[in-house]
Amino acid sequence: MPFPASFSGQPTAELGFAAKMVDDCLNEAVDIQASDLHLQPRSDSWEVFYRIDGVLHLAKTFPVDQDTDPVARLMALANLPSYMGGVPQEGTFTWKSTDGSIREMRLSTFSTVHGRRAAIRISSHAGTVRTLDQLGVSEETSLALGGVCEGKDGWCLVAGPAGSGKTTTLYACLASIAASKNRRSVLTIEDPVESIIDSISQSQLQPNSGLTLAAAMRSAVRQDAEVLLVTEIRDTETAEAVLSASMTGHLCFSSIHSASVGSTLRRLVQMNLPTFAIQSGLRAVLCQRLLRCLCQKCKSPNPSGHECSKCHGTGYQGRLPVMQLVEFDGADFSHQLFQKLEQGATADQLDRFIQAKGFDSLKSQATQLVQSGVTDEAEIFRVFGGRRSE
Ligand SMILES: [Zn+2]
Repeated sequence: MPFPASFSGQPTAELGFAAKMVDDCLNEAVDIQASDLHLQPRSDSWEVFYRIDGVLHLAKTFPVDQDTDPVARLMALANLPSYMGGVPQEGTFTWKSTDGSIREMRLSTFSTVHGRRAAIRISSHAGTVRTLDQLGVSEETSLALGGVCEGKDGWCLVAGPAGSGKTTTLYACLASIAASKNRRSVLTIEDPVESIIDSISQSQLQPNSGLTLAAAMRSAVRQDAEVLLVTEIRDTETAEAVLSASMTGHLCFSSIHSASVGSTLRRLVQMNLPTFAIQSGLRAVLCQRLLRCLCQKCKSPNPSGHECSKCHGTGYQGRLPVMQLVEFDGADFSHQLFQKLEQGATADQLDRFIQAKGFDSLKSQATQLVQSGVTDEAEIFRVFGGRRSE
């Protein structure tokens, strides 16, 4: 990939090899708006990767230096002890980038046969929380989502795999609630807090406090919160706590790692939540994916290495979501859907039923984006895999 070869591999007098390399990589990663930076040791070299618009790119390699280790340098920045040998470690540090912005970096290390590798998550710029109409979805979806945000109670789940933009959507919902004239008390329990929204209370789950997500959730209810966000439903206890809050006058939002609306409903049943409780608490499931948009300057990936300054030669710039928002309002459609769920319909069968009722599938929405020249087939294949259905 044609990234500027800013790193010469030569140690300078003032700064050691590792320190200079770490500086250059962090600055460059922020500069090109990467979300993650990876340093991976090989037998005789280091490989540097940047994740841009959700895709990992090998940016450069450089020879191993016997005397200094860039991962040790990163660990020093995050105040992590180096004597703990091969134990994976996690920590954070702040970084002042060349444009003067301060970024929080979340570092995690992991030992491999060639030494420790590092993955760094780069926080997005402060003030980048989007509003509902900045999400890039149709006006219809944006309005429907706004309607969900005005609800007094119920549970709204945002579903999709990792990196599908769930957090951005959830933040847009909370920002819309925070900006509404009818002030409501909003409390979040996040792991971790990714962006700060004014005029709501955000909290980060402390892993060593002994407080579980479910316990934090129950305390949040006692804080007289009207709107609650609990990121990522991973276990039954949390799902039960959120569902019960959503049935007792709280509007709740969470994300769930599942592929479709049908598989989200199945997951909830697998978590031993009774179907009647799901039916009375669940207000909406929003399933989504992010597709990279073709670079408007060069319009195609350019493997020849000829650099496009806009997309760094990847051929893509920016991403757009496709969303399927299914609301459960007690009408015929919801009754039939939950009846099928109760009768043991598979995720696939539920999704087919939803589609037959007029909800456009994510893949067909993505295909429309290809037809209008926003993205390409290769991107659909990357996001949805090779399954030829729908
Ligand atoms: Zn380009």
